[in-house]
Amino acid sequence: MIIQHDITIALTKGRILKETLPLLASAGIEPQEDPDASRKLIVKSTVPRVSLVILRGSDVATYVRNGAADLGVAGKDVLLEAGGAEIYEALDLKIAPCKLMTAGPNESGGKCASTRRVRVATKFVNVARAHYAARGLHADLIKLYGSMELAPLMGLADEIVDIVDTGKTLAENGMAPRELIADISSRLIVNKASMRTRHRSVRAIVEALADAVTAKSSC
Ligand code: AMP
Repeated sequence: MIIQHDITIALTKGRILKETLPLLASAGIEPQEDPDASRKLIVKSTVPRVSLVILRGSDVATYVRNGAADLGVAGKDVLLEAGGAEIYEALDLKIAPCKLMTAGPNESGGKCASTRRVRVATKFVNVARAHYAARGLHADLIKLYGSMELAPLMGLADEIVDIVDTGKTLAENGMAPRELIADISSRLIVNKASMRTRHRSVRAIVEALADAVTAKSSC
């Protein structure tokens, strides 16, 4: 791959990173150092001029939105919550699939749908506001940064809006999923200005990753 510009790709740490690295490798882009072992925040890749930074998902969106990173990998949940017009969603990488759902305690299933007001704990406040408004419910939103499942147990909220994968976390806390808000997977995003000013380089990376996704899904 020939890259003519300095390009930075922001990756989401954690489980998304674990699934992103093999895709990047199949596109010919590998970190020169093990990101788990290295304390460096910016890691050079095996492709000259391409660097990788590893961040929290919402920070990936912020870096790409502001053009500090040219490309990024982030969950669709993050993009729904904090995307923006400056971000172009180039590719569904089809990794880290899960669902964004409402959920609540088993014993009060359906209760909230009949009252017109519901207390909702979530880190996805924008998505939750739109979801409940579309259903004609008034949601009192409580922003949390982790362990959303605790909020109904502690009487802080009636429902939560959160990521559900196997559903085990909910079940273990006496809760069940209720409504599907969106199917989620990780996306390759591009800063729109980078897309214009570094077009050839950005396109080469997007195409290499698109081929890697196709190759993986035909296995
Ligand atoms: P589970 O118990 O398998 O339903 O997993 C639910 C928990 O894992 C949630 O609290 C999420 O924060 C996290 N989680 C599961 N899948 C993903 C994913 N693809 N991306 C980000 N977080 C996830």
